[in-house]
Amino acid sequence: MHENNLDGGKPKRHLINNSDDGIDNVGTGLAPVLHPSDQPSPVLHPSPIQANTDLQPFFEGLRQLCIELTDEQLNQFLRYQQELLDWNTRMNLTSITNNEEVLTKHFLDSLSLLMAYDAPLAHVLDIGSGAGFPGLPLKILRPQWHVVLLEATGKKVTFMRHIIETLHLHNVKAVHGRAEELAHKADYRASFDLVTARAVASIPTLLEFATPFTRSGGTMIFPKKGDLTGELARGKRAASQLGARFRDDILVTLPGLDDGRRLLVWEQVSKCPEQYPRSGSLMAKKPLVHERLNKSVVE
Ligand code: SAM
Repeated sequence: MHENNLDGGKPKRHLINNSDDGIDNVGTGLAPVLHPSDQPSPVLHPSPIQANTDLQPFFEGLRQLCIELTDEQLNQFLRYQQELLDWNTRMNLTSITNNEEVLTKHFLDSLSLLMAYDAPLAHVLDIGSGAGFPGLPLKILRPQWHVVLLEATGKKVTFMRHIIETLHLHNVKAVHGRAEELAHKADYRASFDLVTARAVASIPTLLEFATPFTRSGGTMIFPKKGDLTGELARGKRAASQLGARFRDDILVTLPGLDDGRRLLVWEQVSKCPEQYPRSGSLMAKKPLVHERLNKSVVE
């Protein structure tokens, strides 16, 4: 699935990419270098849109990430924002109901993953994607990527499929299912270059969900906030049982996101043992590493 993932560009000091030399260039939080060739057309932030004050923190955050949107991408984000808030009046998709916060706390926060990982081509899995975060904003920005959005709740899958169709996105699918079941299917096992999950579970559980899907040498990124000291220590111990290791902890400081958000970056060093993930009930009953219930999730 990942044989095409060679990084044609120059190595980037602060990013994990899919180059042959592995993932030496892991970030410490500095802004990524862009691939000019990734951008389909020149940037345009039309002035009437720029005058919209709701958009200013989003634009400033994009600038800090060195991201330049095409007209098409900007329109896709604005349509996604509109559809999310509209559907949210009828079904519970997000607790964020403010225009500006959708742009920062959902879109910009999702795009902040590019501080830790970027590549011209990648197979990406977003576990527990909900209304599409972080997978759909990443797909809008990197149209060449193949993205799977995995979600256990049917109505959220329906919403993501609506967005995929409305924004005319290709090579992206919303799958209705549970990580602990799908991870045992041959088509999905050890198949992804990048696996992410935002606001889904504690770190050891996320690792048990994500490591079976990640190819050897692949990357996992979990956005988190709050005091993670104990959770991260348990995560590191769980990782060693799952063929993974901790790589980096990147602080995200972008407009509207100054609340201690971090990207926890992991590498799959060898294949995850076949017995993982265990059933949901077993995972709850017997955590890989004994833990007090301590969820540090973000939205
Ligand atoms: N990632 C999105 C975000 O950050 O906005 C949604 C976060 S929401 C708090 C957690 C989502 O994970 C829910 O939509 C839930 O249905 C989904 N979920 C929880 N456990 C899951 C599992 N084992 N497999 C797939 N999805 C799961």
